[in-house]
Amino acid sequence: RAKSLGRACHKVFDRTMHLRAVELLHLETDLRRAIERQELRLHYQPIVSLTTGRIHGFEALIRWQHPERGLMSPAEFIPVAEETGLIVPVGLWVLREACQQAQKWQKQFSTSFPLTMSVNLSGKQFSQPDLIGQIEQILQATALDARSLKLEITESVMMENAESATKMLLRLKALGVQLHIDDFGTGYSSLSYLHRFPIDQLKIDRSFVKRLGADDESAEIVRAIVTLAHNLGIHVTAEGVETAEQLTQLRALECEYGQGYFFFQPLTEAVVEKLILTEQQWSESCECLTSELG
Ligand code: C2E
Ligand code: MG
Ligand code: MG
Ligand code: MG
Repeated sequence: RAKSLGRACHKVFDRTMHLRAVELLHLETDLRRAIERQELRLHYQPIVSLTTGRIHGFEALIRWQHPERGLMSPAEFIPVAEETGLIVPVGLWVLREACQQAQKWQKQFSTSFPLTMSVNLSGKQFSQPDLIGQIEQILQATALDARSLKLEITESVMMENAESATKMLLRLKALGVQLHIDDFGTGYSSLSYLHRFPIDQLKIDRSFVKRLGADDESAEIVRAIVTLAHNLGIHVTAEGVETAEQLTQLRALECEYGQGYFFFQPLTEAVVEKLILTEQQWSESCECLTSELG
């Protein structure tokens, strides 16, 4: 009996495995064509200064408009892209598109400071030897000032091989781009390396921000991260800000920037353009009002 049960389980297992393999294969084939078929999209989530309340820049977040499956989130295909190596061409597409968009917005809207663009780099991309040359080429082709580009690399990717990561980070830094550690607090950083990494900012993982206000421990963790960053002479962005209470606490903890549904969702290019225009008109009318009053 046990034997036949075992065999039945085996069958179910095989079948599931088989279905999954077939599904992955389909996804891979589709993804391979997605770039040329122009199915990839970028959405842009505003990053807000917690001191002025103004938009400081955007994070580019990939989506895939799949012909049958509809709009897919990165969680549904980035892992496949990583496994198959397709993340390299996909990642280059993202970099080129995001840099082009940032340059266009900078030209179109003259804000008092240049809007920045944050782009996520996967572990595979980060270990590509020709990454530097490719980024250099993209910056040149899009005429974007390197300082406006912020590359986000997760803490775990940096820590995986901290020695070679340091070398790569130094080469990236030499291009003039900014380097941010994404999902900070989840990857067990060694403090000695944090000192050696030439990084410009930490992004606190949203799991800590989420529990702000719910338990004291999270506030202590966020405080520790902000203090650590300030001691390193760098700024902090809080990810996943969803409530006014979280915002109040983050401001009290002197966190510089915030990103989350409380401010904005990731937005399409068209919506961002309306948003920047509205923000500009609003700040101009504030200036008029102040000069009239003064
Ligand atoms: P991430 O870089 O940490 O990006 C932040 C994620 O949090 C985004 O999810 C964003 O939509 C979501 N988010 C923002 N505010 C809130 C909030 O208030 N509450 C909640 N619950 N979530 C919020 P998204 O767009 O689904 O991206 C997920 C992850 O996929 C990203 O995490 C990043 O690791 C990866 N990813 C996205 N685009 C790219 C890309 O172009 N290249 C690579 N390699 N990875 C990407
Ligand atoms: Mg466009
Ligand atoms: Mg990110
Ligand atoms: Mg993150």
